[in-house]
Amino acid sequence: MQHIKNYINGQLVEPVSKTYLDNFNPSTGKVYSYIPDSDEQDVALAYSAAKTAFASWSITPKEQRSKYLLKIAALIEKKLDHLALAESIDNGKPLKLAKTVDIPRAAANFHFYGTGILHYASHAHSMEESAINYTLRQPVGVAGCISPWNLPLYLFSWKIAPALAAGCTVVAKPSEITPMSAYLLSEICIEAGLPAGVLNIVHGLGGKVGNAIVSHKDIPLISFTGGTVTGKHIASVAAPMFKKLSLELGGKNPNIIFADCDYDKMMHTTMLSSFANQGQICLCGSRIFVERKIYDKFKTDFVAKTKALLIGDPLHENTKIGAIVSEGHQQKILSYIELAQKEGGTVLCGGKKVTLDGDLKNGYYIEPTVIEGLAYDCRTNQEEIFGPVVTITPFDTEEEALMMANSTIYGLASMLWTGDLTRAHRMANHIHAGIVWINCWLLRDLRTPFGGVKASGVGREGGFEALDFFTEPKNVCVRL
Ligand code: NDP
Repeated sequence: MQHIKNYINGQLVEPVSKTYLDNFNPSTGKVYSYIPDSDEQDVALAYSAAKTAFASWSITPKEQRSKYLLKIAALIEKKLDHLALAESIDNGKPLKLAKTVDIPRAAANFHFYGTGILHYASHAHSMEESAINYTLRQPVGVAGCISPWNLPLYLFSWKIAPALAAGCTVVAKPSEITPMSAYLLSEICIEAGLPAGVLNIVHGLGGKVGNAIVSHKDIPLISFTGGTVTGKHIASVAAPMFKKLSLELGGKNPNIIFADCDYDKMMHTTMLSSFANQGQICLCGSRIFVERKIYDKFKTDFVAKTKALLIGDPLHENTKIGAIVSEGHQQKILSYIELAQKEGGTVLCGGKKVTLDGDLKNGYYIEPTVIEGLAYDCRTNQEEIFGPVVTITPFDTEEEALMMANSTIYGLASMLWTGDLTRAHRMANHIHAGIVWINCWLLRDLRTPFGGVKASGVGREGGFEALDFFTEPKNVCVRL
């Protein structure tokens, strides 16, 4: 069986401890490879390689850095089928989704920052006759990048690409639950000729490897995407060390639907925003608020479409709902469905674990689930479930919809469906979320800042904001 390796100082290496963890295929529930159970010794080696490489990478002309990133992007595109298959097996997501979203977006991230760095400018301010100020933007140093399991390569590259473009070197940790595409990325970096130590990937557990990165006294910057509880812990370790921090955390996103929307478009997109990747996308809309005038129609149509979603082998072309990422996560989601019923909710469809046939019989599947009749402020409607579970709730007025939408501790994304442009802009102004999608979902212009408010995060990724994050401004004032 395959043993995944760490990528340190340009080499694929075993963990110092020589111990490995099981890597499960969630669609079968079987171990299919092994992942390094690394610890602070491996992080120390990775840091040392990254520190040495920083001396030259940070002053490598941006045109040269750009070339490496573009080469990596091209190799990801070339190996799209292989990477998508690996990601689907590792994560349980439908292969089609990995092929059309995850892997193309990972390539796009490298491409975007490989070209973006060429156009990244700093400011100059003239004080009339007395002085000129200019701002140097210098790479911060060795960046610590930690990412989750739901969009493995997509989110991993979303951090690594701007860090490398900006001139930082990196010590990165993918989720221990989905390590395979990060491992394949290390092979790609070797093929692309990326200089040794510029990117280092250390596999292993959050509590060991992640913690060693966050608490490393010489890593001055942490870019983290994951759960809010983990983010809080990371902030408590990193803040007293005065590290630069970007935290992209959980969400409980509202999807607000008015009667005057384009119904068919809304229904098509709402199916995706509810259940794509088994609802395990931080941007999925898990609380659907529907104007009462169309509530009954919406409920009938939405439930019928949800029941028709094909649950099955992620590798099969027609599968819409693949496997949940792990057995532990499957249990968590099922426990929330139980909680919803205790809180007075009615399960309109789904709600159960699914056992498939043959090789897939021990895989982690759950029926897509629609629940109604819950108070907007109950736990089911306030806590992140991160699975194929949505609640539907009617509303009468714009104010009521806004109040319910804004009632959680989270503020990552939101969706608004209406044909009334004035209302759309008015509500966008009042929704507490880092992203408002009006009559669409998951449309991204990589130049825009990305991130949440409230407990959904601190800092912004995306666009030039990410290059700002990985660089430090230094003002130089010249007396004339
Ligand atoms: P976790 O917070 O459990 O883990 C995220 C990463 O942090 C993993 O690599 C994990 O390692 C690591 N980690 C865990 N504990 C520590 C620690 N003490 N110190 C340092 N690193 C640690 O999140 P999940 O992987 O479960 O991902 C799902 C969450 O991510 C959801 O809440 C989702 O909303 C959020 N998310 C947010 C996004 C955003 O853009 N705002 C985008 C995508 C997801 P290990 O896997 O080994 O535990």
